[in-house]
Amino acid sequence: MYIDGAFVEALDGRRFAVTDPATGEEIGTVPDATAADATRAVEAADRAFASWSTTTVDERADLLLAAWRLMQERTDELARLMTREQGKPLRAARNEVVYAADFLRWFAEEARRIEGGWLPSSRPDQRFVALRVPVGVVGAITPWNYPISMLTRKLGPALAAGCTVVLKPAEATPLCARAVMEIFDEVGVPPGVVNCVTASDPAPIGEVLTGDRRVRKLTFTGSTAVGRLLASKAAANLQRISVELGGHAPFIVFPDADPVRAAKGAAALKFLNSGQACISPNRLYVHRESAEAFAATLCERVGRVKAGVGTGEGVTVGPLIDEAAVAKVAAQVDDARAKGARVPVGGHRLVDGEFARGHFYAPTVVLDVTDDMVIRREETFGPVAPVIVYDDVDTVIDAANDTDYGLAAYVYTRDLSTAIRAVEGLRFGIIGVNDVNPTAARVPFGGMKDSGLGREGGHEGLDEYLETKVAGIAL
Ligand code: ADP
Repeated sequence: MYIDGAFVEALDGRRFAVTDPATGEEIGTVPDATAADATRAVEAADRAFASWSTTTVDERADLLLAAWRLMQERTDELARLMTREQGKPLRAARNEVVYAADFLRWFAEEARRIEGGWLPSSRPDQRFVALRVPVGVVGAITPWNYPISMLTRKLGPALAAGCTVVLKPAEATPLCARAVMEIFDEVGVPPGVVNCVTASDPAPIGEVLTGDRRVRKLTFTGSTAVGRLLASKAAANLQRISVELGGHAPFIVFPDADPVRAAKGAAALKFLNSGQACISPNRLYVHRESAEAFAATLCERVGRVKAGVGTGEGVTVGPLIDEAAVAKVAAQVDDARAKGARVPVGGHRLVDGEFARGHFYAPTVVLDVTDDMVIRREETFGPVAPVIVYDDVDTVIDAANDTDYGLAAYVYTRDLSTAIRAVEGLRFGIIGVNDVNPTAARVPFGGMKDSGLGREGGHEGLDEYLETKVAGIAL
């Protein structure tokens, strides 16, 4: 753990093990925090806030830029660690580190643009000044699927704003979090500004981060169930909240789109991180006219996807994070099959040979998905591409919106009006138009409805860590 500028053990000395999801091997142990450790970290963050919040934006920006540089220098080392701890293929891990570092640079730049205003009054002897100030100590809880970029997306803006942070990373990926702490430590971020507590049981840490009056904001990325729970606790303390939660992304192929190009896009996007992404497409709506061509290309592509240990040559799909994840995917595919879906590719666990000790599910295509299937409603978080054939172009947007989630959506069309109508009609926060990567550090990322509150990245990502103060000045 990293508290008050030092790498420390838990107060009671306990540690827990971290395993490689591809091989089941133990790859290290980390301190196992209790509520007392979390409170210690909050104390450190609270002490540090007084001086950190009054540093100049240039000092903060320079430290973030130094962290950006160091993270880039360590891309390879961090990617190897990520592949071992989280499972994604090395190339994807490298891409994630670059994306993660981008947030540090972006928010270093944004720090210099924290502005206020000089406001007129209706009284001739009065002026108003509005200023933007950091919200205070931030509690940050992050998931395992993007174990470095989900940290920098919160730490970057928090530090840029002048906030201090207590981070609790996911129990599956604490080693990546430690590696990020080493970077902040080495570039000279002052003690207490960033703290990290690792714990095998997250609930008591969550209680501290939502219950301690010194914590003024909670930022969370993870499941909708846990986000809802934490947001309700934070509300009791009137903490500010940003929560980035689950998704159930539609991917709509309009009849005028090139079905082959769309299928290639779907195959590339769906299997990123083995489908363990909140923006992963979970419903591929394909018009009946192009369904056959789409399915043929999709099956051919998915059939060629190579699953394996993330360091293996040519591997593009790694393991799932744990056995529960595999069981959930298997149950959804079995349910769809039992209700009449066809499964021309995959549709089973991978258990032989190199897969024996890891958590693998075969890259899978499910055709003829209907509304009564679990996969139509629930987030899969696995390497399964479910195809729904539709007939009516006028109602496909409504069908896509028929979900409690509202994070990402994708549309394929060559018609400008269709694209604009889709972007305007879809109740989702992030929309790809003939594009499978509609995210970047410079754009606001976040969802509607059960997919969350607040935005990360872009200008909005910094706003979440600032509040406005006004001074009325009599002359
Ligand atoms: P996932 O399904 O992606 O694992 P979770 O929502 O369970 O999503 O986990 C996301 C993060 O939330 C992790 O850091 C996890 O430790 C944390 N978490 C899970 N349950 C709680 C809780 N009751 N209180 C605080 N944090 C929690």
